[in-house]
Amino acid sequence: MFNGKIPSVIAIDGPAASGKTTIGKLLADRLGYLLLDTGIMYRAATLAVLEAGIDPENEVMVMAVAESAEIEIQPATQDDGRQYTVLLDGKDVTWELRSERVDQNVSLVAAYPAVRAEMVRRQREIGDKGCVVMVGRDIGTVVLPDAPLKLYVTASAEERARRRVADKEEQGIDLALEDVLADIRSRDKQDSEREHSPLMAADDAVQIDTTRHDPDEVVSHILTLPI
Ligand code: C5P
Repeated sequence: MFNGKIPSVIAIDGPAASGKTTIGKLLADRLGYLLLDTGIMYRAATLAVLEAGIDPENEVMVMAVAESAEIEIQPATQDDGRQYTVLLDGKDVTWELRSERVDQNVSLVAAYPAVRAEMVRRQREIGDKGCVVMVGRDIGTVVLPDAPLKLYVTASAEERARRRVADKEEQGIDLALEDVLADIRSRDKQDSEREHSPLMAADDAVQIDTTRHDPDEVVSHILTLPI
């Protein structure tokens, strides 16, 4: 594995539904590492804003809510298909983080520099302890620029939309492919074009296209990469 050298942290970035979290989870399980899906933190901050009845366009108020939001990620506490449990100010919001209202507002909230600064600070605290696979949009470029292994995971927008629809179907939610594709394209655009920490591959990231490969194949390939 990895030519015998195990990376202390692995940074994985990529667009929505590219398979990065699935791959991150498989890698973390293989190595006995913690998986941190940083998207959850931006989703929880967004939910906190919406629950407080604050307009997500109001940067000052959003900042205050994001800074004070207590976000806790725990191992799954219920056997209902979840991979982990997320508590926002003590309340279980695991499924609500995937709601349409969060999907539609998260890229706006995540674009505010003060929100990013706070989340990055929390992510680095976890990264500093080592033995972690961290997944997001700016992990290799901003959060953990010294990570010994950086991956940039992509897939075509159509394939990503198809996967998202299939995932939701498993949860009993029917979504139209065109709507999901439109949401994915809109988030890609907002995440890549934002001024602060846009979605992009670090110069030293290994690019992985998952369009035609299942997660196990991708992970087997990653484990052969030299560090
Ligand atoms: O990965 P996921 O789709 O759950 O992320 C939700 C949103 O959070 C992304 O569309 C992006 O706007 C934001 N995000 C971010 N930086 C990260 C992780 C997520 O800006 N490291």
